[in-house]
Amino acid sequence: MRKTTAVCVLLCMLFVLPGLVLAQGTTADIENLVGKGKVTSLHLLGVKATNIAMQQLSFTKGDANVLAMTDAGYSIISGQTTEKCIDGVIAASGCTTGGSNLLMIHRSKELPLWFAFFKEDTRDFIYLQVNSAVVNKSVDELNKLADNQIFNIIAKENIKLDDLYNNPDKWNEKINNKVFGGNESSLIGIASIWAHPKCTFDFLQAAQFHNHICPGVNSGYLISKYLDKNLPLQQGQSYKIFAVPSWCKDDALQVIYDATVGKKGMFASDLTEEQKKMLPDNAKGVAGIYIRWDAKTNTGSGLVLAFDFDKASELAGVQNAAGPFVKLKTALTMMDYVNQPEIMVSTLKQFNVASAEELTALQAAGVNPLIKLGIMEEVK
Ligand SMILES: [Zn+2]
Repeated sequence: MRKTTAVCVLLCMLFVLPGLVLAQGTTADIENLVGKGKVTSLHLLGVKATNIAMQQLSFTKGDANVLAMTDAGYSIISGQTTEKCIDGVIAASGCTTGGSNLLMIHRSKELPLWFAFFKEDTRDFIYLQVNSAVVNKSVDELNKLADNQIFNIIAKENIKLDDLYNNPDKWNEKINNKVFGGNESSLIGIASIWAHPKCTFDFLQAAQFHNHICPGVNSGYLISKYLDKNLPLQQGQSYKIFAVPSWCKDDALQVIYDATVGKKGMFASDLTEEQKKMLPDNAKGVAGIYIRWDAKTNTGSGLVLAFDFDKASELAGVQNAAGPFVKLKTALTMMDYVNQPEIMVSTLKQFNVASAEELTALQAAGVNPLIKLGIMEEVK
């Protein structure tokens, strides 16, 4: 009996332990990616976060079933930018942009640095938030610290959709307690839609920029699919988008068409409650004005589009539902209809723009383009 135990221990030492060590990201892994002598403590932070995730979620390097997310590159700690952490995650996890399983989630620079990993088959999720005080440590100093000194939050949860939908009180409590540092809805939503069979990389790019999943960002994606069918761009053309009223959709459209505010691809303004009352019944769901502009001829073709959120709720079966993940359920359902955008998107009006002056008249400050195009009347 004793002999058997000794053999087991020996076999364990020979095969299992080295296997575990090898499965973990090491300094050599980062050197292979960034070059010898170039490893910094920021790289190491990405590796250490990945190693903890590998242990707690049981995966090995290169597992395509694993999604890695981080706000590294956006978060700036004590004046230090954090993009090197991303290479640490790539080196240790094998998750990459090209593999569609590494997402850099947009955040404002003053927010904490974090990493998150999601395993699709088990729906296990782990969030690790970096203790800001360790960012300026050396590699040697960092290597001497325990995991709970490096990360001030290490939180693992299972995020199966049924559990998210059916236990609103439990999840409201977790959200209130900020189990993922206040990133709960954002990261659970992005991980869940990443696992949706119809989710593609162009949508994920919009999701990274918008940094959460909601029916609003999905409505923008469906509007882009509708435009592809009904007002497709040809060479030398681009969209001039009037986000009136603006909502989450417009972040998706800016990313998908490079129709940014700064480059005058998008003009955004909101409607007041009084203005919304002036919308006729058939235009209550107005989403915006989309002009396919040809810079060579200085002419454009335009559509005023509406979006039907009641239909989205009906399709998701959430008309009477409550809880923190009702919007996620709606967004996931909207993704099912990505090839049938006309179920929720409709044309209110078609028009032409005959000159650059006509376009400028719609863009000017103080102009409500919906009034100019005859969709609604002015508030009296
Ligand atoms: Zn949103």
